[in-house]
Amino acid sequence: NGKEIPYDPSALRKIREHPCYSENASHKFGRMHLAVAPDCNIQCNYCIRDFDCVNENRPGVCSSVLSPEEAIVLVREVMSKDSYVKVIGSDIFPISHPSGTIVKSKDSYIKVIGIAGPGDPLANDVTFETLRMLKEEFPVPLKCLSTNGLMLPEYIDLLDEYGVSNITVTCNAIDPAIGEKIYSYVEWEGEKLHGRKAAERLLAQQMKGIEMAVEHKMAVKINTVLIPGINDHHVVDVAKKMGEMGVYTFNIIPVIPLYKFADIIPPTLSDKKAMHDACAPFVRQMRHCERCRADAIGKLGKDVQEEIYRNRGSL
Ligand code: SF4
Ligand code: SF4
Repeated sequence: NGKEIPYDPSALRKIREHPCYSENASHKFGRMHLAVAPDCNIQCNYCIRDFDCVNENRPGVCSSVLSPEEAIVLVREVMSKDSYVKVIGSDIFPISHPSGTIVKSKDSYIKVIGIAGPGDPLANDVTFETLRMLKEEFPVPLKCLSTNGLMLPEYIDLLDEYGVSNITVTCNAIDPAIGEKIYSYVEWEGEKLHGRKAAERLLAQQMKGIEMAVEHKMAVKINTVLIPGINDHHVVDVAKKMGEMGVYTFNIIPVIPLYKFADIIPPTLSDKKAMHDACAPFVRQMRHCERCRADAIGKLGKDVQEEIYRNRGSL
């Protein structure tokens, strides 16, 4: 009857079934990260490359990097019925877990397959090979990717073609004068840019990429690393801009003091909460982030990848 159905992103699968986009989903569904992407094309001043990308990870545990083929084998195992993961009541355990009777076992609790590092997924060709193979064999689970955004405009169409529905961009500043304090260099067209030039290039690419991802109707999440003394007075501006651009949700990650920012005193949980409250008028807030590893498998905060790796032997 010509009536338009109102666009309600929260009704869509890419929101409803993604544990990071919906807190409700985080209690029911899990995600699985494939650590296929070791290289990065920028240098953040809080990152030591021995660790996983802070975009999506907590440092301290190195993931083993998988080839696309190894990643697909792992997905096959985890997604197959009666694999390593069983659901007991509402909790998920590795199959070897001694607790209680298995009430139900289901293969579908992993709703999202993501690529989140350990470097920047878009700086690694293997990311695209992995996505191509995933599309062929696992068309149903949501596909998710996190990036610093430098190469997002160049790859957005390809990501769309491979069915990537959820994109996270780490954007720490929308003012290059602040950005230049956060990034040591940006690799651009075979050159290493430093200082203001690096920050400007990264920012221009991030803005373009975010705009394009929103246009492609991808669910866009922004990660902003909260760095006291560097961008804490600026995070609300970032949130405001992102809200205007139409991103779905905004995640604040307290910096982990490493590398050039090793002396910074990290924000407390109450600093994080206050910042979320200050940003909330401008864009939806994701407050339940668990800073997962690049090889995380399971529900947020209830990861089972270590048991899975132990059960299947070394990779
Ligand atoms: Fe490290 Fe990620 Fe920054 Fe690259 S984008 S330097 S991997 S934190
Ligand atoms: Fe989700 Fe945060 Fe984990 Fe990323 S790091 S998968 S946003 S909970």
